[in-house]
Amino acid sequence: MQAIQIQQNGGPEVMVLREIPTPSPAAGEALVRLEASGVNFIDVYFREGRYPAALPFVLGQEAAGTIVALGEQTEASGFSVGDRVVWCSVPGTYAQMAVAPVGRLVRIPDGVTSQQAAAAMLQGMTAHYLSHATYAIQPGDDVLIHAGAGGVGLLLIQMAKSLGARVFTTVSNEEKAELAREAGADEIILYTREDFVDVVKKRISGPGLAVVYDSVGKTTFEKSLSVLRPRGIAVLFGGSSGAVPPFDLIRLSTMGSLYVTRPTLKDYTTTRQELEDRAAAVLGAVASGALKLRIEHVYQLADAAEAHRDLEGRRTTGKLLLIP
Ligand code: NDP
Repeated sequence: MQAIQIQQNGGPEVMVLREIPTPSPAAGEALVRLEASGVNFIDVYFREGRYPAALPFVLGQEAAGTIVALGEQTEASGFSVGDRVVWCSVPGTYAQMAVAPVGRLVRIPDGVTSQQAAAAMLQGMTAHYLSHATYAIQPGDDVLIHAGAGGVGLLLIQMAKSLGARVFTTVSNEEKAELAREAGADEIILYTREDFVDVVKKRISGPGLAVVYDSVGKTTFEKSLSVLRPRGIAVLFGGSSGAVPPFDLIRLSTMGSLYVTRPTLKDYTTTRQELEDRAAAVLGAVASGALKLRIEHVYQLADAAEAHRDLEGRRTTGKLLLIP
């Protein structure tokens, strides 16, 4: 089968399409023929080596497709050959086929295509846990979401609005501003032209924001803290601009008894029940049309390096998919 297997860490140039053996499902695993693989920023961190993994390995950790074989000890799983499934947070999906533990698979509901499922799973469940669990948004909350036209950003804006928040968001250009507006954002800040701290402070009447969802990291984190209300929470969930440098915790006290958390999806899908509930909330909202996906950037598997260049170069909006 064909796959983007990397043999060394580095830039997008290490992403070469190779012919490698099709994996066989071990006990408790399924072999799936993929119809779409999601591209996520975390794939960049693994490619670079910022998140370590033993080489060589197949990039990608989100996909949808059809089960073609099951390993031993999968009888009780409820899955059969022919089922349409989606999963995330299991490596090896920039490929034509992939294996995944049946415990991580979720059935794709009727009314949701495989491409939609692959587009919604990782970023949708992320937006869901951030808005419902890490900080459960309350009606009337003022919230800030960085990178509002990104994959997670557009979904998080929609969920924050459905929970009754007033949403501030930052984007780099007019096209992205328009998308964030369509997703429901109330206050859109072009951070390339104006300072988001000034804008937020001018436009709120209270002492600050309830929560900042910050996936940009290095270039935004300090400023994100400065727009929070006393006891507000900074949710640092990514580092698209780089990692936040070490931070002296005493500053949280002087800035208003602030909270900071650095959450990750795996800790919000810890049990089979939690995974099913969160996936059902997201895929159900896609099926009903309540959650709108933006799948504009669709690449052939062979063009995966281009997808990474576009993602890192801030040229994308919404979801990026690879079609094997
Ligand atoms: P996005 O689609 O959001 O792409 C990244 C966006 O970040 C860019 O389009 C750009 O938007 C903005 N950005 C700002 N500064 C930079 C920079 N220096 N370099 C590149 N981009 C920059 O990606 P995803 O939706 O896939 O992921 C968003 C973030 O969420 C990532 O940091 C990812 O690691 C994190 N994440 C975390 C999870 C978790 O559980 N902790 C799960 C899923 C994602 P603009 O042009 O508007 O500035």
